Amino acid sequence: MTKPIKILLLTAGAVFLLAVVGTFFVLRPAEEQLVEIVQDGEVLYTLDLADAKDQEIILTTPEGKTNTVTIEDGTIRISHADCPDQTCVKSGVLYSESLPIVCLPHRVIVRFR
Ligand SMILES: [Zn+2]
Repeated sequence: MTKPIKILLLTAGAVFLLAVVGTFFVLRPAEEQLVEIVQDGEVLYTLDLADAKDQEIILTTPEGKTNTVTIEDGTIRISHADCPDQTCVKSGVLYSESLPIVCLPHRVIVRFR
């Protein structure tokens, strides 16, 4: 093998390695993904979806109505509510910073911080 080809191969190898490392950093998920659960204008919970464990949080209004917030596989949604319109349940998983999950009758908001 002649010297120029060796250098070419080494350079190509280094560039390839840099590309792999670079891709790794670019594709890394966000450090944290904070969501807030708000009831009556008061932040009850702040959670980091990036490492929150699967769980259910049951919110109760002063009138005894409930919303069940489910955190599963890094997503958050209102899985059950006894509000009349069910808009919050139908909203599904929270995915947009500009589109919070709102339960108007129970004054509950689930949103990205
Ligand atoms: Zn609702």
